[in-house]
Formats: sequence, structure tokens, C-alpha cells
Amino acid sequence: MNSIKHKKFIYLDNSATTPIDPLVAEKMNETIRTNFGNPSSIHTIGRHAKHLLEESREQVALLLNCLPEEIIFTSGGTEADNLAIFGTFANLPKEKRFVTTKIEHPAVLNSAVQLNRLGYPISLIPPDKFGEVTVEAVDNALSKDTAMLSVMHANNEVGTINDISRIAELAKSKGILFHSDAVQSFGKIPTDVKNLGVDMLSLSAHKIYGPKGVGALFVKKGIEISPTTFGGMHENAKRAGTENLPGIVGLGMAAKICRENMQQHSEYVSSLRDHLQMRLIAELPDFTINGSQSNRLASHLNITVSDVEGESMLMFLDLKGIAISTGSACSSGSPNPSKTLLAMGLTVKQAHSSLRITIGKNNTLDDINLTADELIKAVQHLRGMGLNV
Ligand SMILES: *Cc1c(COP(=O)(O)O)cnc(C)c1O
Repeated sequence: MNSIKHKKFIYLDNSATTPIDPLVAEKMNETIRTNFGNPSSIHTIGRHAKHLLEESREQVALLLNCLPEEIIFTSGGTEADNLAIFGTFANLPKEKRFVTTKIEHPAVLNSAVQLNRLGYPISLIPPDKFGEVTVEAVDNALSKDTAMLSVMHANNEVGTINDISRIAELAKSKGILFHSDAVQSFGKIPTDVKNLGVDMLSLSAHKIYGPKGVGALFVKKGIEISPTTFGGMHENAKRAGTENLPGIVGLGMAAKICRENMQQHSEYVSSLRDHLQMRLIAELPDFTINGSQSNRLASHLNITVSDVEGESMLMFLDLKGIAISTGSACSSGSPNPSKTLLAMGLTVKQAHSSLRITIGKNNTLDDINLTADELIKAVQHLRGMGLNV
């Protein structure tokens, strides 16, 4: 299987990655073919490349309501998270603490583990049963030695959205640097960094119909971080290495499309999600919805189906050409139950019986109805076979 003609597939794993928007692909293709220059070169060919680079930076800055010079392009959300954390702690003594949450993406969680190995104390804040990190829980976790706090904007597994502006206010009142991983929310809900009140914020292109391998870190003017890669003076001397111009151009274009269509896409996607949810409530016995139902990304439906293995449902649907996920995409292939679901209070058995369906702008009502039909059939079949967990 060298290429996936996604017409034949129903793709409902948009939280793991999104299919590239044709307009983004077209713009990247054109850049690769006609704009090979190095943005650092002084000649005309270099200046053309530099122009495209800065045009994309402006597009990303528009969606964040920040200055273009506050954007550092990276190789993706993971590198942006790493740069925020290690770029901050590079300047701090070993007694300073990093506080984050139990529901972060591995890009933040495993950075915290590594910081701890280097000798820095860390704390992990538990979410409530809806997967929300409350201001009260954050307040309880912040100690005198805390230098930096990182709380994700929206969770990648259940879609719950955190009240970042109130958490930022709290951090600010205590003089603590505040970072938010907004990879899931950027381009889908407003991420105005002034309203959110963040010092740093991470984003990625491939979750918003852009290319893989490119993202950015917003760093508020006046906040000093150290580079974590060393070389040339690219990206304000914060991220050395010749810029991935086609990728960055793709990110800029993806951000522009999101900015121009955010409301419309969000309404469309949530109408599909709500339809799916309603059909399952009416026709699927014994399942529960994970995460907040009022305060959730439009795309997400995370459910626990009693007495059926998540993996079995995934395989059953995959045979029908329907792509969904069990726990986090990043832990698929590993048998570990989702850390987010466990932190929300689900048992290991319940976590293993969970599915994540994430809808995107390319899905249709037919996709959703077919998926509901097949999922209901899969559950009937698997329960009937006694393949219980
Ligand atoms: C996908 C994701 C990341 C990682 O981004 P990459 O660009 O794949 O490195 C980080 N955080 C969250 C919340 C994500 O969903």
C-alpha cells in the first residue's frame, strides 16, 4: 500500500493528523519548484525565499494576534514544546520546579521526565473527571520554587478545553512563566495570545490540514529563552538550521485557511459530531462519553463501550475502511492504557474499552452514518462473540 486514495477510506482520526488541504499542497509544490533559495542569502533568489518565509510568519501571527517576530518556526509541535521547556530551564538553577499536568501530550510529559532526570523537581496536576485542568487544581500545585507552568489548551484525546486565560492570570500573579501546548486548538478555536495571556504557546501544521514536520513556538516579546540547537542565527538565534521553506509556506497557508473559515468549519464539524453522538446514544447500548460535553473541541467524541476491547473495534472498523483511534494516537501500537483517561478516573479496563473518533472538515454526513452503522454492528458482533475484556 504505497498511497492512500482517501476517497475509499473514511478518516475519523483527525486528532492524530489531518489530510493536507489541496490549496496547501499546491502552494508547497509551487514553492519547491520555483523557490529553492536559502532565506539567509542576500541575493535576489535568497530574498524571494525570505519574502515567503516572512509572509508565512505573518499568517501565523495573524491567527495568534501577535507580532511576527514573536514566532519561532520549528520542526513541529514536539520541538516547540521542547524548546519552550528546555529553552527556559537552560537558564535556571536545579532547585527550580516545572509544573505541568497529567494529561499533556508526550512532547511535554516526557520533557518533564527528562528535566527531572537532569535534577529539576517536577509536579503533575491531575485533571477533574471531565479531563479539565481547573484553576483550583493549578493553584494547589504551584509552589514557591515553581519557575514554569505548562497547561495544554485543548486535550488531544477527549478534546476538553482548559480555561487558559484564568490559569495564565494565576501564574502571572505568582511570577511564574506560563506555556500552553495549543497544537489541538490552534486554527480550530480562537488562540489570541493576548486574550489567553500566555508567555509561550506551541502549534503544529499537520493538525490543521498542513504538512508534517513543521510547527512554531510563540514567545512573548521580552521573554528570554536559550536556543536548544546551536548553529546559525536563524529564527532570531533561537532555532539554528536552514528553514524548511516549503513546510513553513504550507503552515502559513493552512493558518490562513483556518483563520478565514474557523467559525464555519467548527459549526460543520460539531454538527457531524453531534449527529454521531445522538445516533450512538439512541442505538448503542452501554457506553459512556468521556470528557466535557459542553466545553469540548468540535471534532472530538471519546467513548467507553462496556465489555468490548477498543483494539477489536478499531480492527473491525479498519476492515471496513474506517480509521479511528483507541487511546492517544501517540501511544497506539503500545498496550498502555491512555494516561489521560486513567487520570480522569477511568479504570484500566474502561480505558482499554475506549475509542477516540475525531471528525474533520473533509468528513460528510454519509461518513458519519456509515461509521455509526458499522460501529453498532461491530459492538454487537464482538459482544456476541464473547470477546469480552
Ligand atoms: C500532535 C500533538 C503534538 C505534537 O506535534 P508534532 O507536530 O506531531 O510534533 C503536541 N501536542 C499535542 C497536543 C498534539 O496533539
